[in-house]
Amino acid sequence: MPHLRPFGPTAIAAALLVPLAGCTTAADGAEPRPHAGARPDGTAQDGGDGGAQDGGSGDADADGGTGGGTGGDSGDAGGDGPLSGFTVVIDPGHNGGNADASEEISRQVPAGPNDKECDTVGAEGESGYEEHAFTLDFSLHMRDELEERGAEVVLTREDDDGVGPCIDERAEIGNEAGADAAVSVHADGGPESGRGFHVIAPGELDGFTDDIVGPSMRLAEELRDTFEADSGVPIADYIAEDGLDERTDLGGLNMSDVPKVFLEAGNMRNADDAELLEDAQWREDAAAVAADAVAAFLLAEEG
Ligand SMILES: [Zn+2]
Repeated sequence: MPHLRPFGPTAIAAALLVPLAGCTTAADGAEPRPHAGARPDGTAQDGGDGGAQDGGSGDADADGGTGGGTGGDSGDAGGDGPLSGFTVVIDPGHNGGNADASEEISRQVPAGPNDKECDTVGAEGESGYEEHAFTLDFSLHMRDELEERGAEVVLTREDDDGVGPCIDERAEIGNEAGADAAVSVHADGGPESGRGFHVIAPGELDGFTDDIVGPSMRLAEELRDTFEADSGVPIADYIAEDGLDERTDLGGLNMSDVPKVFLEAGNMRNADDAELLEDAQWREDAAAVAADAVAAFLLAEEG
């Protein structure tokens, strides 16, 4: 059945009740969000341009980073395998301590043309399962998968009880690592009626993202296609266009000098998505799917 546009009274009430539900909800106000995403073949679906208004699926820059321990964690040298010689940065969005550190995470940091909050708390499912826990678990599985294939992997945080790092630091970790690809992992807090995953790619901003929009979109498309085929989560029906959203309001993308995307792996507020997102085996399997996409991107760029 057709999905309802999320602008009815119910959605509005939900938005009022859950103001920060959206994982990347632009807490600082927000610039317009261009929607990108058309598939090269032109099959753009109706997908919903409305992201920002719905129950908060918009996401503030949730990309955040960790403060705590990050940096070049895991890998030093990478190993043997098809991805030997490649460096990948994985950024588990938000952090477990953010909810108790509102002052700290609300400080403004460089985020492109405008400053933005250091980080946000992130989304939460009906069950109480929180996005920061999801993103870390998923990211650790992604790391393991990519390391097994020989990549050097750097996480922006490795535990779930700290604060930050701020979004600009998260980007900087990718830059310093000279990453061949960077993926910020999130799950959305959209309207209950909307389900599905989407991938956010940087829109073009002179002096910020103009050097990364091309490869970032190729990474986004690879991730969209692979995740659609193999993750069990459908393309989002309430936000983005055909699973892709180009945005210029996310500091984690704007401050990146390496190809980078956000994966919004599903909608934590939707019961069908939540059943998967909250399933440990699904997370492990879906992280391997995301790793497949990163691997395909890296090998294609090299070739
Ligand atoms: Zn998020």
